[in-house]
Amino acid sequence: MVRIQDRLASASCRDVVRCLAERCTQRTRSGKPYCPDHVEQHPYVQELQAMLVQQRNEIDQVARLGVRAVDTEGLTANELLLQLKLYGDRTVERLARDMQLDVSVVEAYARALARDGKATLARTRRGHVQVTLAPEVHVHVPAPGEGALEHRQRKSS
Ligand SMILES: [Zn+2]
Repeated sequence: MVRIQDRLASASCRDVVRCLAERCTQRTRSGKPYCPDHVEQHPYVQELQAMLVQQRNEIDQVARLGVRAVDTEGLTANELLLQLKLYGDRTVERLARDMQLDVSVVEAYARALARDGKATLARTRRGHVQVTLAPEVHVHVPAPGEGALEHRQRKSS
């Protein structure tokens, strides 16, 4: 009978490679190209970070310039549509809370999406703006564990 420890040792040895970072001598497990210290050098991680910076910049622009700075095909717009698809109609205030964005930013996104026919806006009796997903709108629903990168790749394909 093979002891579990031996099995683990042989399994990890088989996949061991050296970290691709310059001057790094660490070995990595499971065939990963970078060790934990250098995982940020992985092209996937770099691309993901660039996308997050881009998303952050867009949100800053929307905060300053309003509706015209909204990319209705972008990550944040899709996140808003996803909220509506998953949870149904939402007020701008509720979306702002759930998406951790300013109310004015979410309202700009909602207005841009309404302009593009992806959502409709209505005023509630309490005076809040309620956002409803337009019928037939395709919303990208990320699979469990799927990152933003796959989102973009799938969108562009
Ligand atoms: Zn390394």
